[in-house]
Amino acid sequence: MPASDAGRRLGLWRPLPRRDDVRPEPPLSEQQVAPKPRKRRAIPDRAKQFVWNRDGGRCVQCGSTDKLGYDHIIPLSRGGSNTARNLQLLCEECNRRKGNFIT
Ligand SMILES: [Zn+2]
Repeated sequence: MPASDAGRRLGLWRPLPRRDDVRPEPPLSEQQVAPKPRKRRAIPDRAKQFVWNRDGGRCVQCGSTDKLGYDHIIPLSRGGSNTARNLQLLCEECNRRKGNFIT
């Protein structure tokens, strides 16, 4: 019997670490990623008032008066501004569909 076999029998052989023990942190899913820090410039009240009146206090897409929010037509992240020209009233539903909800 070769010496290596004897070594195994004496407990020199150890099982490999289980995969569960060595795997890195699982990747975070979309939902778990922390929201970006709130660095949005606030929409001036004057602009809000203007947009509200211009759009008649209702969603410009479906006409709903429920859960309205101010939506940036061009997102701030893409160079849009907080001016009335770049804002519209959208209900939560339409806004969520657009994926850029701002209250
Ligand atoms: Zn709507």
